[in-house]
Amino acid sequence: MTGQPVTTGYVYYANSHQRQPVEISAELKAEAIATIQAVSSLLSTGIMPAPVYSKRCSGCSLYSQCLPQAADKVGRYQEVDDL
Ligand code: SF4
Repeated sequence: MTGQPVTTGYVYYANSHQRQPVEISAELKAEAIATIQAVSSLLSTGIMPAPVYSKRCSGCSLYSQCLPQAADKVGRYQEVDDL
């Protein structure tokens, strides 16, 4: 390592082929560490959150496995009692 501080990173969006700069602040580092700990907890317990369909899903590579719209539909399904 060079010992130089890294203050900027980049996020590359493969779908749109765009690269966006991200300022690396103390708050962002703390948020990243909290997210890593939350994911670690999910992996150790095996309990996954329910998928939430949103605009971001259109570019998601996991869409065909996640099926967020189908999960939402099943969650809203209620059987009607016989009349
Ligand atoms: S399709 Fe992707 S972005 Fe949408 S809920 Fe599933 S994993 Fe998340």
